[in-house]
Amino acid sequence: MKTLRVKGESIIYLMDYHHHTNHSFDSKAVMKEVCATAIEKNVKEICFTEHFSLNPMAPTYGHINLKAYLADIKSCQEMFMDQLTIKAGIEICEPHLLKDGYQEVLDPLNLDFVLGSVHNIDNQKLRKYLAGKEQDALYRGYFEELYKLVCTADIDVLAHIDLMKRYAIADYGNYQFEDFKELLTEILMKAIERNIGIEINTSGNRSKINEPLPSIHVLKLYKELGGELLTLGSDSHFAHSVGAHIPEAMQIAKQIGFTYIFKYEKRNPIPVKL
Ligand SMILES: [Zn+2]
Ligand SMILES: [Zn+2]
Repeated sequence: MKTLRVKGESIIYLMDYHHHTNHSFDSKAVMKEVCATAIEKNVKEICFTEHFSLNPMAPTYGHINLKAYLADIKSCQEMFMDQLTIKAGIEICEPHLLKDGYQEVLDPLNLDFVLGSVHNIDNQKLRKYLAGKEQDALYRGYFEELYKLVCTADIDVLAHIDLMKRYAIADYGNYQFEDFKELLTEILMKAIERNIGIEINTSGNRSKINEPLPSIHVLKLYKELGGELLTLGSDSHFAHSVGAHIPEAMQIAKQIGFTYIFKYEKRNPIPVKL
């Protein structure tokens, strides 16, 4: 089997800890096909993280059948045993709201990994929330909601920290890191205090944003503040983009000074040497 190497050094243990399939409302990807493509691309471990919300106002509400999702994972684990490690995760919309409800539904499932996201503010999708706002206000509103999330949510990793740029970039441009450094510091300090990790989400590398989520500035800040829990995810919604840009994300992490990235098992972080 072909192995990827970083500058002739160690063999890469490729992991994709953010992937969607047709168990998410916005993907048609078939899990078996994602797994088969992952193996072709030399991905060693994948964690599926389907969208989930208990808020009837959220677009994702009511899509997932959790039992069918876990059955699909089990069947893929059996089918691809020895070739690919497959973990069961979830990406919760606004996990700081309806917290008791999430706990009640998710605790019995014994998932491996829980991502937390702000996809909606005041029951509006981000794309709608930003309409008519000034650039500063829309980014600030988003980061303030993320701060609320990180203060109370029961999650393992904060997904795509500066997600607002995905929606704002075309009409409002990207944010200036310095303008939000203080707020981002508060978010990251709180994450570190509560043992919540962050991810390098490479979906931005496949779009006109042309950088990961969050940006390298934010990743550096996290490292400076003492953050260690880092996962890598493509946030892919298609089989063909599983593992996309993960080797670059590993290089970025290494350059910033991280020595480990993390995988999760039953919500426990396990370091993997970079
Ligand atoms: Zn997301
Ligand atoms: Zn996602």
